[in-house]
Amino acid sequence: MIPEIDVRACVARQIYEGTLSFSFQADDDVLDIPFARFQGDVQAVLDWAILTDNRTVEAHIKLAFTLEGACSRCLAEASEDIVYEADASFVPGGDDGEEYAYAGGKVVLKEFLRDSLVFALPSRLLCKPCAQWEKE
Ligand SMILES: [Zn+2]
Repeated sequence: MIPEIDVRACVARQIYEGTLSFSFQADDDVLDIPFARFQGDVQAVLDWAILTDNRTVEAHIKLAFTLEGACSRCLAEASEDIVYEADASFVPGGDDGEEYAYAGGKVVLKEFLRDSLVFALPSRLLCKPCAQWEKE
């Protein structure tokens, strides 16, 4: 379940920062490594802060997930734990490309999570011997 940040309610209660911990199921279509899949849910920890002058919401996300499947080089069984961090700003009403917009006083995280996940994904999955072989 992906939570939202209810900016209006937070400001009304004078809460200007917080942390959300949640997990969500990744869409399989973000992953285009052959024979690889997500093992379980993506774990997310999101720190957020509301800027009081313009109600821009700044967010820092940390994603952790595991990929499993066949090694992209030798097809042996492989799995990889991945941790990825990213920052974003959510601007009320605005949308100038660099930033995410939000409307109705609520920040919806879905698009940011999906984008972060796409950036977090490796281009292939390697088993340990192949990963070692590539390093040498
Ligand atoms: Zn391999």
